[in-house]
Amino acid sequence: MIKRLLLLAADSKRLEKIVSTNKRTKRLVQRFVAGTTLESAVRATKRMNERNIDVSFDLLGETVERLEEADAALEGYLDAVRAIAEHCPGNTLSVKLTQLGIGLDPEACAKHLDVLAEAAGDAGVVLEIDMEHSSVGRDTLDAYRRVLADYPATRVAIQAMIRRTPHDLESFDDPKPRIRLVKGAFLEDPGVALKHHPDVTEQYLYLSEWALANLPDPAFGTHDDRCIDFVKKTAVRLGVDRKDYEFQMLYGVRRDVQQKLADEGYRIRVYLPYGTDWYAYLMRRMAEKPSNLILVIRSLFAG
Ligand SMILES: Cc1cc2nc3c(=O)[nH]c(=O)nc-3n(C[C@H](O)[C@H](O)[C@H](O)COP(=O)(O)OP(=O)(O)OC[C@H]3O[C@@H](n4cnc5c(N)ncnc54)[C@H](O)[C@@H]3O)c2cc1C
Repeated sequence: MIKRLLLLAADSKRLEKIVSTNKRTKRLVQRFVAGTTLESAVRATKRMNERNIDVSFDLLGETVERLEEADAALEGYLDAVRAIAEHCPGNTLSVKLTQLGIGLDPEACAKHLDVLAEAAGDAGVVLEIDMEHSSVGRDTLDAYRRVLADYPATRVAIQAMIRRTPHDLESFDDPKPRIRLVKGAFLEDPGVALKHHPDVTEQYLYLSEWALANLPDPAFGTHDDRCIDFVKKTAVRLGVDRKDYEFQMLYGVRRDVQQKLADEGYRIRVYLPYGTDWYAYLMRRMAEKPSNLILVIRSLFAG
């Protein structure tokens, strides 16, 4: 119930205005967001890299309402490609296709993605395409397939909660997709997605094993101890070296576990959001751990 309310709040423009302009939310934002500028993201990335933790940059912002906003987002992504190549090569760039206009005009979005993929390819920066709400899921996978043909290192996020995910994964021929397996963070209808958290976790475990057995260099985007342990043990059982897959976590979440994995010699990458448009991102993070609601209420009302 609380999770559902927070996910509904993530899409509320009215609440966004109240929360975003509240000075007291600053500390809460700082915990989950690396900073408002690209420079702050680069600085945070260098600190993570020193601790053997890789990063995927996330330029905050989601669905755009006008194509000019998608143009501006493309410029932001191109700036990020240049910054990664120049200051911290080896880190990746996560991309949200709603920010590039997929919901408004899939063709314009495809052109933007072509420009970005080419620039990233030239600069040696790998792209990771986020998976958003199922209403744009088909188009996102189609766009990914096109980029994958030319840039086979490109990753796509795949949501375990979505019922047709096993079918989608089976549908890839050659090249095989590089995936970031996640549970799924969006409010979905029961016909589209599993709604019961334990069922989603079971599906995550099933797909983890399938990915380790069938896909190149899978990434596991999770903070769930059960899933992390299962991936480690399954990889050993299948003879997959710990350098041939990676764990991914969100900036500011379970930092102790992130460091422990790095210290144990696992590859670990942190999804690092930066920018001013943090509201919807933050609300989804709050929804993932209901006790986080206390943090929101405290930050809004504490004196
Ligand atoms: C790197 C990365 C990229 C992602 N990309 C996408 C994407 O493209 N599309 C998409 O739909 N979803 C994405 N997600 C979000 C994902 O779908 C889940 O909503 C999120 O990871 C929570 O699921 P979990 O596997 O961590 O397990 P859960 O069972 O939700 O959580 C397990 C434990 O982890 C801790 N935890 C989890 N989340 C939080 C939090 N926000 N704050 C504090 N503690 C927390 C808690 O201790 C919790 O008990 C991404 C997640 C990661 C880590």
